[in-house]
Amino acid sequence: MTHHNPGTLYVVATPIGNLDDLSPRAARVLAEVSRIAAEDTRHSARLLAHLGVNTPMLSLHEHNEARRVDTLDAYLEAGENIALISDAGTPLICDPGFVLVRELRLRGRHVVALPGPCALVTALSGAGLPTDRFTFGGFLPAKPGARRQALEEWQAREETLVFYESPHRIVHTLEALHEQMPERSVVLARELTKTFETFLQGTPEELLAQLADDPNQARGEFVVMLAGAPPVTQSEHQDISADQLMKVLLDEGVGVKQGAAIVARMLGGRKQEWYARLQAIKTEH
Ligand code: SAM
Repeated sequence: MTHHNPGTLYVVATPIGNLDDLSPRAARVLAEVSRIAAEDTRHSARLLAHLGVNTPMLSLHEHNEARRVDTLDAYLEAGENIALISDAGTPLICDPGFVLVRELRLRGRHVVALPGPCALVTALSGAGLPTDRFTFGGFLPAKPGARRQALEEWQAREETLVFYESPHRIVHTLEALHEQMPERSVVLARELTKTFETFLQGTPEELLAQLADDPNQARGEFVVMLAGAPPVTQSEHQDISADQLMKVLLDEGVGVKQGAAIVARMLGGRKQEWYARLQAIKTEH
């Protein structure tokens, strides 16, 4: 009887435009595994031909991913190593692979992720917007109502917002941004790593003007980034509404200690500070 170890699933990021961005490690893994699960095998055949790799491929896309889990699990059980790739960039990031990785991990399989190209990280690293915290929103909803609602939900967020957009919706999205956040600084990262890579920065209105001036700027693939909303400071809270809130609480007979806990929960900040302020308001009364 032959004994073998189960294989490994390698999640492999591939270029988002420039083929030189494929890492030597990724190239080696694609050449050495027994099979490659690819989002679109015809699309990926070009990458493999460029690398001179003839590893057999099988498709794994949103419509067959759940069904593919057992097949791939059986290959791993038989000791085969497998690579997962998508059409471009990092699998699972707005691309298939999540169901597979989740299921294989649940089954105790060995999964190794190789770092590599990803449009959102590339865009953020070149945009000049704060990156200490950011929210990635995936693709905005296509329907105008849902898109507006998604933007409304994000409007007050203080961190940088990043989302993917397709060329045929970019103008609509900028129009929606102009309506909802006309002052917001927006960066469009277009055609990253490709010949016509551009970063455009401006208010939504300025960007719409630039796209109207040069229709080439509306073509290709986009990452849209929004500067976060300006932070709401404690002092603004105090000037605008905290005092009113505290007076109402005191009028309603809420004690200073409980009032401080309520205000801190609602507006943030330290309970002790609200306590002192409530005391002051109470004595003024
Ligand atoms: N998995 C990919 C990744 O890691 O970035 C993303 C796949 S998603 C289906 C495709 C979207 O990514 C495009 O619509 C675009 O928003 C963004 N994208 C991909 N390549 C890009 C590029 N070269 N320049 C700008 N955006 C790109």
